[in-house]
Amino acid sequence: MDPELIRDCVHCGFCLPTCPTYVLWGEEMDSPRGRIHLMGQHVEGTPLTDAMAGHFDACLGCMACVTACPSGVRYDRLIEQTRAVVEREHVRRPDERAIRALVFALFPYRRRLRAMRLPMRLGRRLRRFLEEVHPSLGAMAELAPDVPRPVRLPPLVRARRRRRARVGLLTGCVQGEFFPQVNAATARVLALEGCDVVIPPGQGCCGALSLHSGREAEARRFARRTIATFERAGVETVVVNAAGCGSSMKDYAEVLADDPAWAARARALRTRDLAEFLAELGPVAERRPLPVTVAYHDACHLAHAQGVRAQPRELLRAIPGLELREIEESAICCGSAGTYNIFQPEAARELGDRKAERVLAAGADLLVSANPGCTMQIAASVRRAGKGEIRVAHTAEVLDASLRGLDPGMLGRSRR
Ligand code: SF4
Ligand code: SF4
Repeated sequence: MDPELIRDCVHCGFCLPTCPTYVLWGEEMDSPRGRIHLMGQHVEGTPLTDAMAGHFDACLGCMACVTACPSGVRYDRLIEQTRAVVEREHVRRPDERAIRALVFALFPYRRRLRAMRLPMRLGRRLRRFLEEVHPSLGAMAELAPDVPRPVRLPPLVRARRRRRARVGLLTGCVQGEFFPQVNAATARVLALEGCDVVIPPGQGCCGALSLHSGREAEARRFARRTIATFERAGVETVVVNAAGCGSSMKDYAEVLADDPAWAARARALRTRDLAEFLAELGPVAERRPLPVTVAYHDACHLAHAQGVRAQPRELLRAIPGLELREIEESAICCGSAGTYNIFQPEAARELGDRKAERVLAAGADLLVSANPGCTMQIAASVRRAGKGEIRVAHTAEVLDASLRGLDPGMLGRSRR
């Protein structure tokens, strides 16, 4: 933990009302300011206790505090460094170690995720039993989406009009396996807007889950591999449609800072979120009317970590007939936060319930989000509230439906 970054905090407390764990529990040590105080204690020689590790583990890494902080405290860097310290120094309970080993042996590997299709279906039926075995297993069963048939994307989707850019598309692990229709829609939208879309077939995990969990060496390995993959693809920009992946890829130069050659290659890799890229490119494809009411959910790793808030809203508002509604408390995390809803299921459920209430209050036909984790978390929370299935779609799917003149009633159907 960098003492300089810790000293930047002037303890003003402006970040407290935006911190989901402080909002839930009102405990100073579960606020950004409290956690920075604990980091300072550890740097000054206090050994890492179970209680300290618990306060760090309870942090969602949502970065709402980074947005709120007037002093520019780099809490994002601080918590990443702290998580690595926790991984090195804290001895977890055997059951926690087993669940973590399972998650990190599974989620960053697409083939293994693919093999989970059948167990996931069974797991949903066995949710109560799994919950009794371990709350994290129960959470995994509850969150499991209805996985559509795999979609095979070609290595190159050509621009459907005069070419304006050549981009790479990160397909992602969870996005690629559980939400393949989002990648297909993304490629179509980009092609219709005049992009050649290169989709390297052998791409692996971008390292987001590892990075956000303090597994530094693993994160660096995934980062190097992703950089090399897109260098070979010869693209100008890598477009990412999953908020957590995009924010990690934008951090590659910092992740690889100890290795100047790789850090330089990371800086040369231009990464853009889909909405951010389309806003920069400007629209040329005709938007057809889409009479639908949409509530837009800000994924934390898009809004707080990447500062992308206006672009998706502008893209949606530009669709004729679409009515955009805001969700109250949009800056507060839904509780998904990468693996948080698996490792901290109780807190995640509290936040999910809070978010579900506000999403339903918006009274929209469709919830739109740009992160697969948020989609699964909010859909599960709405189900838990006894409100049935909520229709959820990615910004790319809504745009795709408008560009192709599809029936908006089809959006977000049959997720489960
Ligand atoms: S990252 Fe989110 S949960 Fe963690 S301290 Fe900041 S606001 Fe709170
Ligand atoms: S992190 Fe920023 S907003 Fe929060 S107490 Fe420190 S200086 Fe104030």
